[in-house]
Amino acid sequence: MVQRADQRLEMEELEVPMIGPDEGLLRVEACGLCGSDVDQFRGGTVARGLGSYPMIPGHEPIGVIESIGALAAKRWGVGVGDGVALEPHLSCGACSNCLTGRYHLCRVLRPSGIPAYGYLPMDQGHGLWGGYATHIHMHARTVLHKLPTSLDPKLATMYQAIAGGVRWAVNLPKTSLGDTVLVLGCGQRGLGAVIACREAGVSRIIVTGLARDRFKLNLARALGANHTIVSDQEDTVARVMEITGGRGADVVVDLAPSAPQTVNHALDAVKSGGIVVLAGLKGPRPVAFDTDRVIFKEITLLGAFSQGWQAYEQALKILDENRYDLARLKTHDFALEDASTAIRILAGEVQGEEGICLALHPSSPS
Ligand SMILES: [Zn+2]
Ligand SMILES: [Zn+2]
Repeated sequence: MVQRADQRLEMEELEVPMIGPDEGLLRVEACGLCGSDVDQFRGGTVARGLGSYPMIPGHEPIGVIESIGALAAKRWGVGVGDGVALEPHLSCGACSNCLTGRYHLCRVLRPSGIPAYGYLPMDQGHGLWGGYATHIHMHARTVLHKLPTSLDPKLATMYQAIAGGVRWAVNLPKTSLGDTVLVLGCGQRGLGAVIACREAGVSRIIVTGLARDRFKLNLARALGANHTIVSDQEDTVARVMEITGGRGADVVVDLAPSAPQTVNHALDAVKSGGIVVLAGLKGPRPVAFDTDRVIFKEITLLGAFSQGWQAYEQALKILDENRYDLARLKTHDFALEDASTAIRILAGEVQGEEGICLALHPSSPS
């Protein structure tokens, strides 16, 4: 499915290219969708100068290695027939960011748009860069994860959502046993954060969402959140203080997209000496907040972009063990042709459809 303009995805037939010794060919089994897909569909990627049409979207693909060069097989440790999940970002492996574990911020590949699957234009190389397709030509700089053989592919497509929760709510803030964690936002990553917090032994999980997201808040509770706050009907900070006996949360994770007020909620609701993780993009408008509060409360502010190796591995383990009945998060599976419908459901534009985690399948989902 090729995006040739804003809000326009069209089925096209392309040649499957020959691969080099350091490359591979992935037969896409499914591709997960997130808020970035909605933004890209509406034209956000091109509007911000981070890519150009035509491109094949899809940055959350899983699939099976159909063919692989000898060098790539050695480097990636996989062979024909192995199931893998791709990390979206391509990395050079040699710059200072790559060599210090921040390969998703690769300095060499970053200046030219987003060097990631789902965002590279089709006029670059062979063009088969996205998960909305039957095949992906795997670049030599691919970072991938082998899927556990027992993992259900329908659950596997949630690897990025769960990995986001793992890194942002647990790994980065070093969340530990007995902590109170406030998760601002109850989308797929907020729910991923709930699951990650349970794995980490968090004693109190508080999740916020809007009244229209009631079904997601209910799911947050079903997954193990102890408290939910309807942030457009209740005073988030007052509720958190009531729940924590006036102390505040140890860790606050802001995952709310384009909602500037949540940054202030985070600073007010975190305890003195607590940690605030910012992972919800607010768009081009700067957010106003009182920096003195950061000083007086000695708050640690952390920015989180992308998931990272460790979180992906942990997420795949959580999905494989499936101790939280994770099929509840997977609301829709669609055939690839229905990509536009899937995106509109995820965006909340289709009446009567409540989407959380969705995936596209090149051949109709069974
Ligand atoms: Zn995504
Ligand atoms: Zn690099």
